[in-house]
Amino acid sequence: MTEPYRIFEVPQWLEPVQLDRIERLNRRAKRAGIAEQLTWSIAHTQYEVKDPDTGVMRIKRESHIAVFGDLLKVPGYTFAATVDWALDKPLLRRNPNLPEEYVLTAPEQPLCEHCGTLRNRKDTYLVVEDATGTLKQVGSDCLMAYCGLRPGWVSLFEDGIDEVDERDDIPSGVRREWLEFTPEAIVEVAYCIVRKEGSYVSRKQADVVSKTATVDLLWWVIGRDEKDEKAYRLQQAYRRAVEERHNEQTVQWAKDAIAWAQSVEPGNSDFLYNVKVIAEAKAIGSRQVGLCAAIVPAYERDLVNHEERKQRGPAPIGSGIVVEGVIERMWSEENEFSYYGGTVDKMVVRLDNGSRVYSTVASKLYDMLYTRWQEAHGDMGVYDWACGQRVRFVANVEPSRKGDETTAYAKRPRKPEVLEGAA
Ligand SMILES: [Zn+2]
Repeated sequence: MTEPYRIFEVPQWLEPVQLDRIERLNRRAKRAGIAEQLTWSIAHTQYEVKDPDTGVMRIKRESHIAVFGDLLKVPGYTFAATVDWALDKPLLRRNPNLPEEYVLTAPEQPLCEHCGTLRNRKDTYLVVEDATGTLKQVGSDCLMAYCGLRPGWVSLFEDGIDEVDERDDIPSGVRREWLEFTPEAIVEVAYCIVRKEGSYVSRKQADVVSKTATVDLLWWVIGRDEKDEKAYRLQQAYRRAVEERHNEQTVQWAKDAIAWAQSVEPGNSDFLYNVKVIAEAKAIGSRQVGLCAAIVPAYERDLVNHEERKQRGPAPIGSGIVVEGVIERMWSEENEFSYYGGTVDKMVVRLDNGSRVYSTVASKLYDMLYTRWQEAHGDMGVYDWACGQRVRFVANVEPSRKGDETTAYAKRPRKPEVLEGAA
């Protein structure tokens, strides 16, 4: 069994990067006229580590890439070492493929034994002739003539194999943070933050309400330590404050939230689809942390809806029904029924008994809302402003085809009014 030339222990997500670099070396070797190629074998390890600062369990996955082969191998010779003469004393960079029993000693001076000249301040090479076992020091000008190895290739390879292990040069879009988390741990920390801060704040809302987004606070808790002393102390204090919220109930809440997310019916929602995929994952990487945290408000919303749905009364059904309630949502849709195309405005009205009536917004009603919106001269758009306005109209109200008694559809809405006293 051959010994590996090198073993690289890297975070698992870096594995393809490393393998790509090894392949690149092989391609270079081919171009340099080397018959040998590097091969490798990979072993994976995985273990859970408790972060000493945050107490959050993380999953650490590593790849052990064992690289075999000798790209400095040329027929009849074994490359033993590069002798670096740049410093006061020579440095030996031993070829890891050289059998261990082969003891190398640094030469006294940079003498090329091929041509007999001194090669001051330049690299020289120690090469073994396989047939005789003799070791010679050869200068770069003579290396090719002596054994057929290009000195340029030697340095390219030596740098290249070190580059395989280089962590700074990672492709853009890949975060350096490579530790993984369990979805439950992330959801629980996010939930503790929400309990501390009062509500979940999305990145989009953060600017509007002048608050820090929940996911950024989350990264503060689970992420790397701040380097600046003052910032570090603040971070530690915040971590403790979040930790104080943690108890059996929050753990159970996170378990329930994950179970809910796993069982969710995504329908057409890619958000819910992602949520489901994340909740079903055994471990998530840093790029999924934000989406995982979003399970918290999604689950909370579902809990509220579930409770609220139980309180809803039946929607009124029939012709010429007076529908009165508060606009809950208003939006614009393609008008699929119009020969001329264009858009049509739609809304959901929440009635006082909690039932919902879907309706098109009659143009007369839209004009009324638009006029009032202009008078209000707020920052929001007319649709957002309209939400919360109390309206009344007459319509033929049809039941939901899904058999949901608390939801109905208004046809031919007429006689609209915008009532005073918005909800
Ligand atoms: Zn020479």
